[in-house]
Parts: sequence; C-alpha cells; structure tokens
Amino acid sequence: MADGISGPDLVAGDKLSGVSTYEYDVVIVGAGPAGMCAGMYAGRAMLKAVVLERGFPGGELLNTELIEDYPGFESVLGHELAEKFHTHAAKFGAEFRTSVTVEKVKRLDDGTFETVADNGDRYLSPTVIVTAGGTPVKLGIPGELEYAGKGVSYCAICDGAFFRGHTIAVVGGGDAATEEAYFLTRYAEKVYLVHRRDSLRSSKILQQRLFANPKIEVIWDSVVEAAVGDAAGLLNTLKLHNLKTDERRDLKATGLFVFVGFRPNTGIIADHVNHDDMGYIVTDPHMQTSIRGLFAAGDLRSQLTRQVTTAVGDATTAAIAAEKYLKLIKDGQPEVAIENAGGYSA
Ligand SMILES: Cc1cc2nc3c(=O)[nH]c(=O)nc-3n(C[C@H](O)[C@H](O)[C@H](O)COP(=O)(O)OP(=O)(O)OC[C@H]3O[C@@H](n4cnc5c(N)ncnc54)[C@H](O)[C@@H]3O)c2cc1C
Repeated sequence: MADGISGPDLVAGDKLSGVSTYEYDVVIVGAGPAGMCAGMYAGRAMLKAVVLERGFPGGELLNTELIEDYPGFESVLGHELAEKFHTHAAKFGAEFRTSVTVEKVKRLDDGTFETVADNGDRYLSPTVIVTAGGTPVKLGIPGELEYAGKGVSYCAICDGAFFRGHTIAVVGGGDAATEEAYFLTRYAEKVYLVHRRDSLRSSKILQQRLFANPKIEVIWDSVVEAAVGDAAGLLNTLKLHNLKTDERRDLKATGLFVFVGFRPNTGIIADHVNHDDMGYIVTDPHMQTSIRGLFAAGDLRSQLTRQVTTAVGDATTAAIAAEKYLKLIKDGQPEVAIENAGGYSA
C-alpha cells in the first residue's frame, strides 16, 4: 500500500519505452461528478488517490447547460459546478491526471489491481473505484454516422448554436430528450420531438415546460428510419415512420439530436463483473462490485435513476467503503465484511 499523500509513488520506469508503474491506495477511473466526489472523500481520508480522466474533469456536466436540481444551487451552469467539484477534490489532495484513457482494470492473483492507461503506464492499487459513466446510444439508422457532425449530434449544448433559425428534430422520450429539446429552442426556429410511444418518460415538470413551448411539436408513435442529406453532404431530411398508422413521410430538418439512452462504459473491466440486463454494474450497498476491492459509482451502476446527486451519493459510499477495505487489508483481514471494518475517520 502507498503511504500517506506525499506525491505519486513511481515504483518502476522503463527508460526505453517511457512506460511507468505507479502505486496508489485508490485509483479512480473517470472525473465526472462521481469520480471527483470519490477523489474528494479519498483525499479527506488521507489516502493516496489518483483520478484518471480521458478528457477534462467534469464528465456529463460539461455537456449540460444548466443544473437546477443540485441541492444548494437553484441554478448553476454545468461547467461551473464541474469546476467547483474539481477544485474541491484537488484541495483535499486527490491527484488528477487528464488526457489519460484507461484501457484495462484487472485484479492480479495477489488481489492488487492493475490499471493500464493508453500510454502503457500501469497503476497498482489495492482498490479501484470505476466511475466511467456511459456513452450515448446510437439509433443505428442509415445516414446517422454519415451525417454525424453534419447535422446529427448527441450533445445539444455543444452543437445547438450551429442551428440558429433552423428546423431540427430531437429523438427520445426521457429527461435528456425533453430537457434538450427545450434548450434547443433558444437557437432553432422549430423543434420536433420524435418519440416512438404516445407518452414521455421524463419528469412531469420537464414535460410541462416542453408542452408550453410554442416552438416545440411532439411527433408521437414515430421513429426516424433514415437521415438523408443534400448535395453538399449536409443533413436535410428525416424519414419518419408512424408505428401506429404505418404511415411513412419525410420531415425537412437540418439537425437531428439523438437522446435515446446511454451504454455504461464497463468494457475496461477485464474480469467478469456482475451486471444487469442493460450492462450496468451491480453493486452491494457499499458500492462494491462482485470483484472484491473493485467499487463502482455513478451512471455506470445499476440503479433507478442517474443524476448528479445519485452519482455523488454513490461515490461517497464507494470512497468510504474503499477506505474501510484498505484498513482491513492493513489489519491482515482482507476477507472480513466491509461493515465490520471499524469507524470512518476522515
Ligand atoms: C444532456 C444531459 C443533461 C443532464 N442534465 C442533468 C441535470 O439537469 N441534473 C442532474 O442531476 N443530472 C443531469 N444529467 C445526468 C448527469 O450529468 C449524470 O448523471 C452524471 O454526470 C453522472 O456522473 P458520472 O461521474 O457517473 O459519469 P459522467 O459524468 O459520465 O463522467 C464519467 C467520466 O469518465 C470518463 N471516462 C470514461 N471512460 C474513461 C476511460 N476509459 N478512461 C478515463 N476516463 C474515462 C469520461 O470522460 C467522463 O469524464 C444530464 C445528463 C445529460 C447527458
């Protein structure tokens, strides 16, 4: 185990390949709300913790305009909240390494985890907290990939401003689709929300706001079957299919925003880990996965809802449970249940 928070323990470096091996108490994969919160708690517990992030700290907060449901903040910009989380975690000693993509997390025979980054660097630790979130699900229709970035988008806040005065469509029926359709009306002249059912799954308050917006029209019971472009290679038409009436028609639209769910980023876990039917990781109440010492928190965990609040709640539990597990290892009792590991000291 690494000792204290006195800087990274570089235990081996290969000068020829430039590949290094580091030791930490806790390796946290992903710097979204869950990873940053886990980093803050691990830092407060005086653990040697590193947060490995493939991009910049923030996760989905960086793709969200306004957060209006994080307690204490009636309305806060996504990137502002991300910055606050990051500063707070770093203040308590969590080390952040950005532009580091984790390729594999594997439990070695002696129980140590080996986390391998895309540059070949190895991070050895007795515990890992995976908070890698999810990736937007694609529609899988003709033209979707061809017109990605040329009309097709998965991020309203990133691309919305390109559609000032345009007619666009949003696909989906959950919170993300409802919220982002509303958000996009600040740019687009007209926003169609295309949903395959006859009612939305999103929260009632978001629906109320959506239905009250004169720029939005919902196209019920329908799917987009294909995205078609013009001679310049830009999207201009969506092929719609009404599943109830079987009617097919063209919708003129220069933008297609897809919000039909997320796939959990669990592919980095090399060993089999228990998951639900949708691929989300199943944990016990301590956020421990079916692999001893491997914890999961946030959007990639199997649970009722996925929000910033739930991500930080999970991460709090995961970091404290990881600390207790480290204590058990130190006491030579790695098999004892985490709840019997003694008091929380941070
Ligand atoms: C459009 C939209 C609007 C939303 N609006 C709200 C809202 O208003 N209120 C609310 O509470 N929630 C909202 N959410 C949901 C909320 O953003 C998520 O629940 C929350 O961000 C989940 O946090 P997380 O840390 O689990 O995952 P994420 O935020 O997804 O963070 C995961 C991080 O892991 C990194 N990562 C992934 N794989 C690797 C790898 N292999 N190596 C290194 N790093 C990796 C990613 O780059 C990312 O930074 C919204 C989500 C979306 C998409």
